[in-house]
Amino acid sequence: MKCKICGNKAVIKLRAHNIALCEKDYIAFFEKRVINAIKKYKMFDRNSKILVAVSGGKDSLSVWELLLSKGYKADGLYIDLGITEYSEVSKSKCMNFAKSRNVKLEIVKVKDYFGGLSVPEIAKRIRRKTCSVCGLIKRYIMNRSALEGGYDIIVTGHNLDDEVSTLFGNMIHWQVEYLARQFPIMDKNHERMVTKAKPFVTSTEREVAAYALIKGIDYIEEECPFSVGATSLFYKKILNELEKEQPGSKLRFLSGFYENSDIFQKFRKDLKLKSCERCGYPTTEDVCSFCKLRERTNNIVEKS
Ligand SMILES: [Zn+2]
Ligand SMILES: [Zn+2]
Repeated sequence: MKCKICGNKAVIKLRAHNIALCEKDYIAFFEKRVINAIKKYKMFDRNSKILVAVSGGKDSLSVWELLLSKGYKADGLYIDLGITEYSEVSKSKCMNFAKSRNVKLEIVKVKDYFGGLSVPEIAKRIRRKTCSVCGLIKRYIMNRSALEGGYDIIVTGHNLDDEVSTLFGNMIHWQVEYLARQFPIMDKNHERMVTKAKPFVTSTEREVAAYALIKGIDYIEEECPFSVGATSLFYKKILNELEKEQPGSKLRFLSGFYENSDIFQKFRKDLKLKSCERCGYPTTEDVCSFCKLRERTNNIVEKS
């Protein structure tokens, strides 16, 4: 197998793009696709003050690495969920990354907002699924930290496989409101909201993993212990089967959806946001779901 560009030994074959590449040309190919996505969806430019939400996994550390190597101004944000050893290891991966590249990493502890409770403890106390509680908390802290830090944009490491499995799930259940909001860039529509962008939407998990490996990024390979059995993983498996039969179908499915996203815009409910009576951050109701969660959790603590 030879590199299509230079003829040297290829290290990766990409069936979706009908191409085999050596290490050097693969990095150039990968970076170009990400930069194209950043430009196509008008995510940000080199003057933007970027905050990358990092988990210690390959996707978020790779997106941080790529932005830094391409001259973007990007700091990191690590949200400590308090999931015992998993959080400790993932935090240290982020800290080592920031230190070795001499960039700023902000660490926010969920425990500081919830009277010493970790994400699994909060979920257990209010009898809700850990992943939904975790998602809600992360979205809120991400936005608040970015706003307080004066950032223009929040970047996450969501890749093509993440996005296509979310799309598939939203379509299976016809979650039209979610479909209306699924896009590589989510513009702010409240004074206390920061725009979010996903530069890896056109890169598969395998492509990101290859980038991380060649670049020598030290990331946590282990998945979050609470993600075991997640429906999104099942959807990814189905979509990978489809990709095997029809290379490029994941990318076509997702980009076709983005091209037709205006179809779903009439279902958006987040266009007229109010300010939370407690914290002032955006909400569709009087009190935001984060403040409600804090109040519910605190009430239960007092009772027991
Ligand atoms: Zn080559
Ligand atoms: Zn609030």
